[in-house]
Amino acid sequence: MSYYSPSIEKLIEGFEKLPSIGHKTAVRLAFHILDAGEEEITEFVNAITNAKANLKYCSQCFNISDTDPCPICSSPKRDKNTICVVEDVKDIIAMERTHEYKGVYHVLHGSISPMNGIGPDEIKIKELLSRIQNNQEIKEVIIATNPRVEGEATAMYISKILKPMGIKVTRIAHGIPVGGDLEYTDEVTLTKALEGRHEF
Ligand SMILES: [Zn+2]
Repeated sequence: MSYYSPSIEKLIEGFEKLPSIGHKTAVRLAFHILDAGEEEITEFVNAITNAKANLKYCSQCFNISDTDPCPICSSPKRDKNTICVVEDVKDIIAMERTHEYKGVYHVLHGSISPMNGIGPDEIKIKELLSRIQNNQEIKEVIIATNPRVEGEATAMYISKILKPMGIKVTRIAHGIPVGGDLEYTDEVTLTKALEGRHEF
């Protein structure tokens, strides 16, 4: 049986549904909410409601944005002929933080995973193809899916479709993380690091 009143219980349950929030943290957050001022709570609730109501997918790259097309797709400074394919919206943010990439993106919203019943049709691959078919100017597609089994399978699948179309398809090099130790690096990572080597 629960020691909390039903209203608090409901709040705790709500927090527990969030990713990486365990029961203890959920309890702490629920009690924080109860202690917070009216204004703070209203602002927080509105932020959630507005985010849900205003955010939409960019019809070109499937990034999440307040506008369609998203700021990256509509920026005249971005090279529209280079597309970087990522699994998740959060990967765009990671790439943007490098300040190195000047092209546009395509978010797949997942990766091919037969184990979980996710085939090519469940992610935004068709949309990527029609985007490429509708723009003859595209010169390079950089596949930046995660270096896991699913990400590699997705990368292989996409490159097999795109190569016959005469498009340059590249894969970002994965290697030993900065600060990593060669001794403790697994074979897959080390093989990838070797493959992705470049000339000095
Ligand atoms: Zn976009």
